[in-house]
Amino acid sequence: MNKAVSVTNRKAKHKRPCPERCGSVSEYEAKKMPRPSLRSRTLKRIKIKVPGGARIIHYIKKRPGKPRCALCSRPLSGTARGTKAQVKGMSRSQKTPTRAYGGNLCPACSKEALKDTKLR
Ligand SMILES: [Zn+2]
Repeated sequence: MNKAVSVTNRKAKHKRPCPERCGSVSEYEAKKMPRPSLRSRTLKRIKIKVPGGARIIHYIKKRPGKPRCALCSRPLSGTARGTKAQVKGMSRSQKTPTRAYGGNLCPACSKEALKDTKLR
């Protein structure tokens, strides 16, 4: 009985930081109630097994949805998808197609739009 108590005390005193330094909770704090800002579902939860063997929860930002066509709301291909920081690091050609209306209209709608502008 006494042995078990001493083990829990030792665990409670030992605070291990996240090995990836992501600002996540330690093994000890994972057992506690999450702080109010982490109780909402704004952030995505990932369960990770750390080298010490503990399973802890990492909170990461959700990826935004696929960009869609402005006219027919079909998902656009060839456009970057990720968090703001991830998209910022990409080159221009990785973010959007370089043709006219690229990243705004789908190929079918941009074809129609180009026809309209030529007729005027
Ligand atoms: Zn379209």
